Parts: sequence; C-alpha cells; structure tokens
Amino acid sequence: MQAQPHILQNSVVVFSKNYLPLARINIKRAIVLLVTGQAESLDFGSTKQWEVRSPSVVLQVPEHIRLTMGNPERHWKVPPVNRREVLKRDNHTCQYCGSSKCLTLDHVIPRSKGGQHSWDNVVTACEKCNSIKSDRLPHEAGMVLKSKPKAPIHPAIAFAEQFWNAQRLSESE
Ligand SMILES: [Zn+2]
Repeated sequence: MQAQPHILQNSVVVFSKNYLPLARINIKRAIVLLVTGQAESLDFGSTKQWEVRSPSVVLQVPEHIRLTMGNPERHWKVPPVNRREVLKRDNHTCQYCGSSKCLTLDHVIPRSKGGQHSWDNVVTACEKCNSIKSDRLPHEAGMVLKSKPKAPIHPAIAFAEQFWNAQRLSESE
C-alpha cells in the first residue's frame, strides 16, 4: 500500500474489545488489523483520521482502533523475580542511590533474616550500596529506598493509566 511517508510515521492507539487502551502501534500495523477485520475504527469525536491511498483502495485510518476479537493480553502473568525483570521494573537504577552502574539484586530484608525472594523484597542495588548495606535492614544501615518495591502490573493496565493521564492533561490545556 502506498502512502505519503509522513502519514506512515503516525501511530495509533489500539483498544481492547472492552475499550481498554492496550498499546500504541505504528500505523502500518493498524492498517493490517483494519484490512483483515481484526480491528475496527473508534471515534471519540476528537479522533484524528489519516487517509491512506493505494491504487485500488482509499482507507481512512483513525488514531484510535478497537480489536474485534478477545484481548490478546489476557494470558499475561506476573513475571518471575529474576535479575532481568527486577532491573527492568527499577529502570536499571540502584534503589538506594540512583546509580546505574554495577547493578546487583538486594534483598531488602536479608535472606539470613527470613526475607523472601519476592517482588516486594527484592530491589536493584549497585555493588557499593549492596556492600554497605551488607546483612542489615535498610534503616540499620541508614539507607532509604526510593520507592516501595512491588510486583509489576499488567502492561495493558500500565499503558491504560498512562494513556488516560495523557488525555486528561491534554484536555486541561
Ligand atoms: Zn547504589
């Protein structure tokens, strides 16, 4: 399908069948979903549309589309507590000093004191903070966590929160 290159740089927000905003996808992927009937246009009144032309078809692509089938994210599970996932949750920063170098995992309540290897007890810590803290609780070492550790939330819910916050901001402008 031919279209002006600048149109193809746009992105489209895809909603689940239940109108939960799921993700931002590129317009080419949105076109495939629309053409194959896996998604339909959504119109919130203020929804922008782009006209995409091919030799035989003119397609109106709105900036919001809705999947016509079940939510593909429904099988999502809380990820395992491992280095990769914990660093991702903590944006690759030490939760004590904010450093992004020499990262390790720290058990907030040390394992030797009965701390669990769980989302609410494992945080990213740099080697330096980890060795200062050693086998102590944060307050015993005079250290403060940047945020209370918790399990990652469903990516669609995280996206939905972000999406509606952005909408609220743009409406109040
Ligand atoms: Zn640190």
